[in-house]
Amino acid sequence: MDQKTPKYITTTLPYVNSKPHIGFATELVRADAYARYCKLQGHEVFLNTGTDEHGQKICDKAQEEGMSPQEFVDSLVVDFKQLLPELGVLPEANFVRTTDEHHKKAAQEMWRRCKANRDIYKATHQVKYCKGCELEKTDSELEHGKCPLHPTTEIEVREEENYFFRFSKYQQALLDLYTSNPHFVVPDYRLAEIKKFVEGGLQDFSVSRLKTKMAWGVSVPDDEDHVMYVWFDALTNYISVTGWPEKEDFGGWWPGVQFAGKDNLRQQSAIWQAMLLSAGLPNSTQIFIGGFITSNGQKMSKSLGNVISPYELTARYGTEATRYLLLRHVHPFEDTDVTWERLDEWYTANLVNGLGNLTARIMKMAETHLDAPVTVTDVTSMDVKALEHFEFQAVLDGIWAGIGAMDEYITENEPFKVVKTDKVLAQEMIEKLVRDLHEIAESLVPFMPQTAEIILAAIKENKKPENLFARLEG
Ligand SMILES: [Zn+2]
Repeated sequence: MDQKTPKYITTTLPYVNSKPHIGFATELVRADAYARYCKLQGHEVFLNTGTDEHGQKICDKAQEEGMSPQEFVDSLVVDFKQLLPELGVLPEANFVRTTDEHHKKAAQEMWRRCKANRDIYKATHQVKYCKGCELEKTDSELEHGKCPLHPTTEIEVREEENYFFRFSKYQQALLDLYTSNPHFVVPDYRLAEIKKFVEGGLQDFSVSRLKTKMAWGVSVPDDEDHVMYVWFDALTNYISVTGWPEKEDFGGWWPGVQFAGKDNLRQQSAIWQAMLLSAGLPNSTQIFIGGFITSNGQKMSKSLGNVISPYELTARYGTEATRYLLLRHVHPFEDTDVTWERLDEWYTANLVNGLGNLTARIMKMAETHLDAPVTVTDVTSMDVKALEHFEFQAVLDGIWAGIGAMDEYITENEPFKVVKTDKVLAQEMIEKLVRDLHEIAESLVPFMPQTAEIILAAIKENKKPENLFARLEG
């Protein structure tokens, strides 16, 4: 295999003011499947994820719980870390916390470089702020004086002397970036959305907080009175994990591919890119923007009692089936509605009765009627292009179309009957099925690595494997 370029892949860092969300689990599984796919293509891969641990909301929550902010994030980070093995994420994946010492130093260096470029300045300013978003809001973003994303949260008006980031300076540079990289943001309509936002004009925004008001953040270099705004600190994680700034060349990893949700479009594809431009650093390679997951048509929330946690999914379906459900049945770009009833249906129809049953039938016939394991060649027939465009669902739809065709082949040709009258013909049929199953298993490697491994081993040993997927009870 020829030398392939290293691939750096990262999720956003979820904010640890509550338990891990199914939306983040989906983002993580996508990034992992994409990383595994890149590995299969011969790339060296750096997969990054972690937690965003500073800012007002965490400060407030910690106080409610009677803990220090550090104690509070330490208590919550456990569930986020555990999510990696729980979802079968590559064991070599990196996990960064924005409270890590090295990350804080990198964030300060980012600040110094933006400031050296005259893009950070001090000014007094009245700000409208949504605590729910941890973002300042312009009047045009408010509906009846409220944040449309947090209609029950009061908008705060604050007057303070803060440091500002000269975002306005980067309007043209950002538009140029989007124009010269027509797939910079995927899907296309999200690129159009951010383009429109940038074309509408950019306002400088405050990137510091007075320590007297909110001290839980990375200290602003050479100013005792301020901490950095949480976004400014957290976004730097994408490069701090490569060993920057000590490694000026990012150890060869940056720039990379970023996975994010649609609520992160502006931060990832405009703010972060402007910060990189200001610091004289390369922009991201590409940004994938996913949709939301709703339940019964509503956003999941504690108060509605419709939250589905990733741990509940793995407890009910297991790691591999959870990966399958999130990668195939959650649309990569559009919002998807998920209910336990539907999840159960997909699991039973496509895994228990689909892939699981088909594997058992074929390998039972092979074990009984073939004298030796079928010789298979390692070629992956996976629709490569589709995964390069993050079409997880389309690739899996294709694999399941193959599974359906194999089921039909068995029904039509009945090799288990033919074997009684024409053993040679029946063996040919079974061998064909085993080769097709081998192809299915190879295509499944990035999505369901353990399952693929079990099927490939069964083919090698010419032996029916243990049940792949347990039937749901009750
Ligand atoms: Zn809001």
